[in-house]
Parts: sequence; C-alpha cells; structure tokens
Amino acid sequence: MRKKIVVGNWKMNNTVAESVTLATDVIGALGEGFSGCDVGLAPTYLALDAVGQLLEGSEVQLVAQNCHYENDGAFTGEVSARMINAIGCSYVIIGHSERRQYFGETNATVNLRIKKALSEGLKVILCVGETLAERESGVTETVISSQIREGLTGISHIGAIVIAYEPVWAIGTGKTASSSQAEEVHLFIRTLIGELYGEPAFRLVRIQYGGSVKPSNAAELFAMPNIDGGLIGGASLNADDFVAIVQAASV
Ligand code: PEP
Repeated sequence: MRKKIVVGNWKMNNTVAESVTLATDVIGALGEGFSGCDVGLAPTYLALDAVGQLLEGSEVQLVAQNCHYENDGAFTGEVSARMINAIGCSYVIIGHSERRQYFGETNATVNLRIKKALSEGLKVILCVGETLAERESGVTETVISSQIREGLTGISHIGAIVIAYEPVWAIGTGKTASSSQAEEVHLFIRTLIGELYGEPAFRLVRIQYGGSVKPSNAAELFAMPNIDGGLIGGASLNADDFVAIVQAASV
C-alpha cells in the first residue's frame, strides 16, 4: 500500500511574511501528529528558512521548487541542491512544466539536477506531462516516455523519486484531466517504471497528479488505483482548500 503524498507548490507567490501566515494556517488546520498522508509545502527560495523553522517538529515537509546542478559558482540567480539540503528541505521539485516552458529546462538538464539532488540526499519530485498539442496529435505516451527515460538516465535510486504527472493543458487553466484520463497515463508511467527498475519499483513508486486539483475533484482523482496524491498549485495558496485536498488523500 503506497502512502499518498500531497505537496503545495506556491510558485512565485507570497512574501516571506505571507508564506509564514499560510504555513501557520496549514499546520494549524492539519492538527498535531497528522499522519493521514505525506504533506509538503514548497514556498519560494526566500521563504524556505522561515517556513522551515515553522515546520520543525511537525509532520509537514519542506520542499524546494527547483535546484541547480552545480554545487556553487558563477550561476547568477541560481540555488544549489547543497544549499537546499542545508536549509532543511526533504524534497525538491525538478522539471516542472513552467521551468521547461519559460526557463529552457530540457530532459538533459532535468537529469543533471536530479543526479545532483540525489547526491545531496534530497528526494525528488520529477514532473512530466504533455502539452495540449501533443495530446491532440496522439504523442502523449511518447513525450512522457522520453521525459522519464531521459530524465532518469543513469539514476538507480528510484526509491527517492516521486513522479508528478501534470498535463500542461491542465495546469492553472481550471481544466482537470478526468480521473480516467489521468489514471490511464499514471498506469502507463507505472508500467514504464516497472520496465526500467523492476517489479518492486512498479509497486512502490508514487505518482502524483497535478493540474487544477481542487477540493471538489480531489477525492475522485485520488480514488484511482494509480494516483498517489497530488502536486497542487493554485489551490495550495488557500489553507482551507489545501487542507481539504490533503484530507481527501487521507481516507
Ligand atoms: C502545478 O503547477 O504544479 C499545478 C498543478 O498547478 P495548478 O494546481 O494551479 O494547476
């Protein structure tokens, strides 16, 4: 039985003070000793320290939205996996579609970032997903297969990786993949992971769904046999909505 995992990706939202308020509200609403599913919060880099201090002693894990693949050096504007580990993150999100779309992220740089994150002891949420044009031209599986094969090239430690299936056409658009559309791709991903890493990985790897998850659709999505929680954007900016989604993953 896989424990579900729900992570709030706050993207480029909230000042440090606003992040602290939101995290305080989430922890308060979850209550002490919450253990229904794994929960993570991914504030901006600026707020990792303050939110991390709040999360100490709680079950909620600190997550970074990205990391660079070098330890340090002349990479203006970047933050390394070593720094993210030192600030107390357990997970880092890598290969989010917004990084791929706006910041030139490729499967090759995703692969470098994952290798570096794992070498620093971080766990990784690897995001994959097709655009609307790719879905309509029938290449969803080809795209996702390349993202996974190339993103994970040379990586043996699959136990430290969560996959997030996020159809690009469903992110921030209000359009959610139907539970059966999502389940079909999740099963495809699970089968591919089984081919690459064997039967235990087939059973154990967790695959989150992301793309306009809300309190109103979370339960149906999370009831699918191969959907192991969610990566939540917009709805994670509201503590009540986020906690309702977490609770939907905890039944
Ligand atoms: C995301 O960006 O990871 C995401 C799923 O966003 P939203 O929930 O807003 O669609």
